[in-house]
Amino acid sequence: MRRGSCLCGDIRYEVEAEFGPATACHCIQCRKATGSYSIAAPVPRDSLSIKGDPRWFESSPGTRRGFCPDCGSYLFWDEGDGSIWVSLGTVDGATGTRVENHIFCAYKGDYENLTDAVPHHREGWSSEEIE
Ligand SMILES: [Zn+2]
Ligand SMILES: [Zn+2]
Repeated sequence: MRRGSCLCGDIRYEVEAEFGPATACHCIQCRKATGSYSIAAPVPRDSLSIKGDPRWFESSPGTRRGFCPDCGSYLFWDEGDGSIWVSLGTVDGATGTRVENHIFCAYKGDYENLTDAVPHHREGWSSEEIE
């Protein structure tokens, strides 16, 4: 069981499943939503229980981003496909997972250093690697 919360603590969650491999996303939407870039990992939607009332923003058709309406913490990314991605910075304690891919690196900020050894994809997971 993993637990997490937003900055103010009004939204808390528990995850019964283990997180899948984490992805760092540098797309424009994730940059705007987080203020930097997103690091998140998927779990089955039915393994996540949310306490509190996140606000959901439909950032593209069928994809919703959940955040705390009070403190603004970006918590969840839901494509409606049965899994949900959890922002790993909101997990309290160990996550048990690790970044295995960077995606949409073509859109990363010019202030970022991408120096780790995992793949840096130009666009999505199946796109070519850059750098
Ligand atoms: Zn909050
Ligand atoms: Zn993104």
